[in-house]
Amino acid sequence: MHISIIGGGPAGLYFSILAKKNFPEWDIQVYERNGPNDTFGWGVVFSDRTLQYLEEYDKPSHDEITKEFETWENVEVVHDDEHILIGGNKFSGISRLKMLNILQARCEEIGVNIEYHKEIKDLDHDPTKPDLIIVCDGVNSTIRRNYPSYFEPELSSRSNKYIWFGTNKIFNALTLTFRQNATGIFAAHSYKFNKTTSTFVVECDPETWENAGFASMSEDETRLYLEKVFEKDLGGNPLLSNRSLWINFLLVKNKYWVHENIVIMGDAAHTAHFSIGSGTKLALEDAIALFNEFRRGQALPDPDEATFRPYIAEILKSYEANRRPKIEEYQQFAYDSLLLFENLKDYIHLDPLEMAYTMMTRSKKLTHEKLRGRDPQFVHKIEELRRNSLL
Ligand SMILES: Cc1cc2nc3c(=O)[nH]c(=O)nc-3n(C[C@H](O)[C@H](O)[C@H](O)COP(=O)(O)OP(=O)(O)OC[C@H]3O[C@@H](n4cnc5c(N)ncnc54)[C@H](O)[C@@H]3O)c2cc1C
Repeated sequence: MHISIIGGGPAGLYFSILAKKNFPEWDIQVYERNGPNDTFGWGVVFSDRTLQYLEEYDKPSHDEITKEFETWENVEVVHDDEHILIGGNKFSGISRLKMLNILQARCEEIGVNIEYHKEIKDLDHDPTKPDLIIVCDGVNSTIRRNYPSYFEPELSSRSNKYIWFGTNKIFNALTLTFRQNATGIFAAHSYKFNKTTSTFVVECDPETWENAGFASMSEDETRLYLEKVFEKDLGGNPLLSNRSLWINFLLVKNKYWVHENIVIMGDAAHTAHFSIGSGTKLALEDAIALFNEFRRGQALPDPDEATFRPYIAEILKSYEANRRPKIEEYQQFAYDSLLLFENLKDYIHLDPLEMAYTMMTRSKKLTHEKLRGRDPQFVHKIEELRRNSLL
């Protein structure tokens, strides 16, 4: 079997590892438009659950990844200069680049071919006529754009602007910080991902963005402006820029994920707002789900047999049928969270404790009772606050 994978992000690399490890006779070719160390971005977040999957499916890469991890137990909400800690929220962060380097090395070790600096624009890119093509070229997928009738994408560019920085200020919790100035409201999402660096994503609504005049600011001016907004939070540390530019979050859905022997996965297929920190998790779990379909299937027919291609198409259809409901559920959680950040002006008047509660329950995934299980003291405080406000 010959497999062509377009895009060497977490989805493409992780599927390659699982497939090659379990089916060593398969020929797997990854095409990546960048070099191995070119990625942009800072750290990504994993839940404990994702880590368990990584350990179960490929222990060597799991062990490398967890060596590099920073972990924390709390969410922290900073509002009106008050810091509210909510416990029972175990997460880990790792540099995106470090994680990709680990997956790349593992691919090399087991015999997956990665061709770097190779940009793919069409599905006839591989003269060997691959038996399976996996499209995982990220949120702005070229293949999705060039083959709209295969996937029927539904794209929605959201109104808020966001920008991704690093900083040497260490945020020991997944921290949500709200600050206001004369132009409007700013939110920062921050978390450590190694011993010396944290991710610091800033988000604001379009009115705030206009009022602040970001359209005419240089990268440096933007950075300095935001350092001032979050002066109290950065503790004198600068923001670190790495191609840090304002963008609008692109909500991606596709009506179809499969066309004959072609499947689309990861961010190219679906996105979930970064405020619930699950893009990498979903990409890795897509890879696991697709791999499981092949593992579950009967022994593959011989590639020369006429039944081979239809058999592959059936496996891909089964992947879509099983995976789509899970993704849609996640996208709904993420959408609730996205709406809250788009409408922050309706919440900014809240007492810090109420604000923290609103943030914790924003995706409707975490109910009042589940939150009590995580941090009974926090829930007790909020119940007391509400009782007192009724007196
Ligand atoms: C601000 C921000 C914060 C985030 N925070 C988190 C977080 O905390 N936790 C988390 O889990 N996720 C986070 N994410 C999301 C995460 O980075 C992605 O969801 C995840 O990497 C998706 O994996 P992927 O493999 O589908 O795509 P990508 O990681 O985007 O990989 C796609 C790859 O394809 C390559 N490529 C693109 N086009 C072509 C082409 N035409 N030919 C060849 N190669 C191509 C790209 O160079 C890239 O390497 C965040 C994203 C943003 C923007």
